[in-house]
Amino acid sequence: MSVLLACSGAADSRAPPSPALAPTIAPSPTSAARVDLAAPTSAARVDRAAPTSAARVDLAAPTSAARVDLAAPTSADPAASATRTTPQPPAPPVAPTPDAKGLRFARACAPGDTLTIAAVGDLLLHHELQIQAYAAPEGFLAVWGEVKDLLALADISYANLEGAVATGLNRKGEPVTDPGRVFDRNVYSSYPRFNYHASLLDDLIRSGVDVVSTANNHALDRESTGVDATIAALDRVGLAHTGTRTRGATGPWHAVTRAGGLNVAWLACTFSTNQIPDPDDQVLGCYAPAGALEREVAALAADPAIDAVIVTPHWGREYSDEPDRAQRKLARRLAEAGATAVIGSHPHVLQTWELLRTKDGREVPVVYSLGNFASHQPELPRRSSMILYLGLTRPPGAKAHVHGVRYVPLHVRQDGERYLVEAIDRVGGPADSRALTVGVFGEAAVLAPGAPLATRPACP
Ligand SMILES: [Zn+2]
Repeated sequence: MSVLLACSGAADSRAPPSPALAPTIAPSPTSAARVDLAAPTSAARVDRAAPTSAARVDLAAPTSAARVDLAAPTSADPAASATRTTPQPPAPPVAPTPDAKGLRFARACAPGDTLTIAAVGDLLLHHELQIQAYAAPEGFLAVWGEVKDLLALADISYANLEGAVATGLNRKGEPVTDPGRVFDRNVYSSYPRFNYHASLLDDLIRSGVDVVSTANNHALDRESTGVDATIAALDRVGLAHTGTRTRGATGPWHAVTRAGGLNVAWLACTFSTNQIPDPDDQVLGCYAPAGALEREVAALAADPAIDAVIVTPHWGREYSDEPDRAQRKLARRLAEAGATAVIGSHPHVLQTWELLRTKDGREVPVVYSLGNFASHQPELPRRSSMILYLGLTRPPGAKAHVHGVRYVPLHVRQDGERYLVEAIDRVGGPADSRALTVGVFGEAAVLAPGAPLATRPACP
């Protein structure tokens, strides 16, 4: 059963199997079969994939020595002697190596109102982390308190809330006596069905988080009643959310946050709900119904009251450090529909970023996966993630665009029974984790410890 579901890691082994997990519905376009392929061999595949990924990026870079060598004529080549006798124009300047993996924005220095956004990946709170947090006076800040100030550094901060926050609901979504802030494996549980105590939401607010996605493959871990309960809990504390709706609701899927005079719309979706039925259409799909997400994006982009549209898809293959074709194609469609940026999660590992240029001339950054922000998955790639920062500019009379990106490499450290999310550069954290992350995203965009959040440092 476990390999059928996503987001495994530390299994809640004493949990009874849930009858609702039986495959009673047709698989989604991104079916569980793809998860099956990734799961059993995941550790080996990730370990092998890491150095390959860096090598691939190096080869693709414009300054690749290998490509220059291959292109050079040999001494036996007639062209070589011609080169010696005929003056040649100087070689074009090569891009500086430290920036080869970064994103360059043509309108980085355009004037206008500005705003910064911070985003982190999955809050996948396996039982070890829940036990730690529920026993600590500071709650989940016992897990990620070290990076709290880095989340609060931006004007708006986002995270993916992977699981239900349903007070007094058991694994079937039925009302039972709530145990309080205790990991009882019935109301508050871990893999395969996550449910968190509502104090988590207070802890997120205290951490500077402003908006969360509730659209992910664990959105229905407490069934339809759990979606309703989660939304009620979020509304109760005033934490903005996107991607799910209460039963019978016809209101918007998105949330709007306002800061710096800009209205930013957030729109989350998921590729799957782990084969748990969604009879009331409470969870926004990324791929199905076909075109629905793109229409939502287009409507938000056309709304004169909205300055930017950030789409946060929950997508991709678990443990794959490269986005798949479906992700790349959807990213392109979202960009063309009017997204300002696309920030993904779910694969449990970091996936690369790129800058898409749309037919109407906009530049849309896509970060395919932010990895696990907080989880108990022991493999190095699954403990390595980042805080991503986006800087936005709204020129006078125009929509906002992203003007720059920065990031802070993160790592989940195990200290005995405790799990701690740490900023690697600030605590002298593990070099192997840092090398993995910087190998994908480059050194130039790293935000140094103590540095101000300058998302376009090269501008006057
Ligand atoms: Zn997921």
